This record gives sequence, C-alpha cells and structure tokens, in this order.
Amino acid sequence: MVRDNADILVIGAGIFGATAAVELSLRGYIVALIDEGVHPHPLAATTDISKVVRMEYGADDQYMEMVEDSIEGFHAWNDRFEEVLYHETGVTMFTREAMVPGGFEFESFETLLRRGHSPERLGPEEITRRFPAWKPGEYVDGFFHAVGGYAESGRVLTHVRKWSEAIGVRRIDGRVAKIDIKKGRVQGVTTSKGQRFMADHVVVAAGSWTPVLVPELASEMKATGHPVFHLAVDEHSPFTPPLFVVFTADVARTGWYGFPHHPVEGVIKIANHGVGVAIDPVHDERAITAANEQSLRQFLSFTFPGLVDAPIVFTRLCLYCDTRDEHLWIDHHPEIEGLTIASGGSGHGFKFAPVLGPLIADAVESIPNAWLEKFRWRKLSPVTSGEEAARYHG
Ligand SMILES: Cc1cc2nc3c(=O)[nH]c(=O)nc-3n(C[C@H](O)[C@H](O)[C@H](O)COP(=O)(O)OP(=O)(O)OC[C@H]3O[C@@H](n4cnc5c(N)ncnc54)[C@H](O)[C@@H]3O)c2cc1C
Repeated sequence: MVRDNADILVIGAGIFGATAAVELSLRGYIVALIDEGVHPHPLAATTDISKVVRMEYGADDQYMEMVEDSIEGFHAWNDRFEEVLYHETGVTMFTREAMVPGGFEFESFETLLRRGHSPERLGPEEITRRFPAWKPGEYVDGFFHAVGGYAESGRVLTHVRKWSEAIGVRRIDGRVAKIDIKKGRVQGVTTSKGQRFMADHVVVAAGSWTPVLVPELASEMKATGHPVFHLAVDEHSPFTPPLFVVFTADVARTGWYGFPHHPVEGVIKIANHGVGVAIDPVHDERAITAANEQSLRQFLSFTFPGLVDAPIVFTRLCLYCDTRDEHLWIDHHPEIEGLTIASGGSGHGFKFAPVLGPLIADAVESIPNAWLEKFRWRKLSPVTSGEEAARYHG
C-alpha cells in the first residue's frame, strides 16, 4: 500500500532525526519522521534524564567550536521551550596525578585558554575547599570551567518533536524494515507491517540500529552498551551546585563521569564513558552486570566517600552508535542516490543538538560546511583507534 510522497523521510526520531526534520522543514521541504511507538523511544540513547554538555575535547578545536555554538543554542532553546532544560552548572575535570601534556585535561585546559575561555586550575586544597564531596587529597589537579553543564535530553527531545509537528513535519508511527532502492536510487521505505512510504530522499538517523538498516556500515560502526547508575541520597545539598557540578574523574583513564543531584528526578547519575560491550541492538538483553556495579563502588570509595553506600535506584545499559574513530557519521551514501546517513554519536553526540539540524540539512543539500569534513563517509580499518579525547579506551 503506497502512501503519499514526502520530499524527505527521516528514519528515527532521536535527537539526530528530530533536529534534522525541524531544519529540513524550515528549509521548505515536505518532511516525514518515522519512529515506532511511544516517544521518546524508551531504548533510544537520547531518552535520558541528563547528558553532559562540555566544550572540552582535548586538543580538538572543531568539537570545542561546535559546542561553543551549541551552548548558545541551548540557551536559546531554554527560552524557546520556556523551560530550563540546559543547566549551566559548569564542569569540574579532576585528575589523581598532575595534568600532563598530551593528557585530556591538560590539552582541554590549553585549548580553552587558546580559544579565550577562563577555566580555573585547582590544586588539592582548592578542590576540597570548593567541592567538598571529593575525597580530600585524592584528586590533585584539574580545573573548573563555568561554561558547560548538562541538558535534560529526553525532555529536550520531546520539545524538539513538538516543534517539528508544529511546523508541519508529518509523524509516522512505524518501524522501517527496508529502505526501498531501485536502480541505485532511493524510492522510500517499507515498514515491518508492510506499509510503503515514498520519498525523494531518505535520512537514516536510527542511532545504534543504523548498521541494521544499512548493513554496509557494519564494518565501520557498531552498537556498544555502557552502564549508567542512578543513586539516591537522603541529604542532597553536598551534591548540588555550586558544591557539586558535572564532573569527569580522570575520565580518559577511568571513564567515570557524572552529574549533580537532579532537580526533577532526585537522583545522582554516574556513568562510564569507556570501552563498553558489543551488543545486538535488536536481540540482546540490555542489563548491567554485578562487575559493573562493583567497579562503581570501587570508584566511589576513592572519589566520593559520601556516596559509597548510596542505594542504586535505577540502572540502564545504554547503547552508543560507535564508529571506529568515534567521530559522527553524517554524509550521503556513496552508491545510493537520495540516501543520507546521520548517526555515529559514539557516546558524545547529544551535546551538539542545537547545531545538528543545520549540519545534517547541509549534508542532505550538499551545502559546503567546514564541520562536515570530519564526519564524511570514510573507510576505516580494524586497527583504526578511537579519537574522542575524553573516552577511556581500556
Ligand atoms: C550511556 C550514554 C551516555 C551518553 N552521555 C552523553 C553525554 O553525556 N553527552 C553527550 O553529548 N552525548 C552522550 N551520549 C550520546 C548521545 O546520547 C547520542 O549520541 C545521541 O543521543 C544519539 O542520538 P540518535 O538520534 O543518533 O539516536 P537515538 O537517540 O538512539 O535515536 C534513534 C531512534 O531511531 C529509531 N529507530 C531505530 N531503528 C528504526 C527503524 N528501523 N525504524 C524506525 N525508527 C527506528 C529508534 O526507535 C530511536 O528512537 C550518551 C549515550 C549513551 C548511550
């Protein structure tokens, strides 16, 4: 059964798909956005109580530049959505040894200064005085940067979705089973229920499911699972800004990072930006292990003594769409006309939300955009290593 044409059909209503749909509609296209069931989708990576918004990417200027613009965008979205969903708590990035050249914290600090920002370098005494929840003397160097914080990603996504519908984006409830191609050109999609939707152009923004829909990408990106913990505390003021803000704790060497006490959810979220576990996004169970919890407790024991016994009220194994080099993947398919991929968030894509829509729309329209070079369709090899500076690579 063929349904009426859209100029552009976007598969996946996570933050990549929803922002792309808004921007493409604002540029005058007839846009349809397809995703399945309740929104935001409970298994989507975007569906979460908070995501870190940090400028710090080691020596990488482009990512810092993108987040500089993104933070302006988040402030504008707080106004547009008439709700503070981006919380500028500032960020603390502390290390257990002195910061060294080549290290994530040192290079981030240098890049911030070079780009005119004002991070404050802190030693052990200052860390204890200003952020007393940290175990005294355990972290001896690092910095506080007042610009940055976290965004309530799931709620941001709900607002972006409402915005898309308010400007005429058509929502389709369904799961795409196949992208229909004829003579090397996209025709539309067929859903798992056999419905067909025609479109001149299709954008695949299916997050960690992307290699399922575009199998030729399975050699370049895969789904990896990462543990997330939500802790409860009776007395939350020691874990509330300005005493406790978004943090990374020797993150490139441990993976650990987290958030202050959440004003709505009433929990402290701590997660690990590490290697993760390879997982089948369609069939595998998504559960954290006892080993995950044990390593959390061990981390808390030498970092936040006040949380070491805090009850875990909720856990989640959340999936990255992990490219081999950990850079986003936003480009046309090299062999299929009318097909664009917008994915590869690799565990750090949400913070770009306000700039993602224009970036993806520029790719769809082949408009030159300096930032897109990094995200081009590329051939990576099994020995390609991850380049996201904050990521713990084991
Ligand atoms: C544990 C964890 C922590 C993270 N922390 C941060 C952070 O602190 N800061 C940060 O910037 N980023 C972070 N990220 C990364 C960020 O969440 C992602 O990069 C971003 O949300 C990805 O958005 P997306 O739209 O690509 O994918 P998703 O949000 O996963 O959305 C994909 C959508 O596609 C739909 N879909 C899939 N297949 C189909 C199909 N066949 N038919 C129809 N619909 C389909 C799904 O239902 C889903 O709704 C984190 C990610 C995880 C997992």
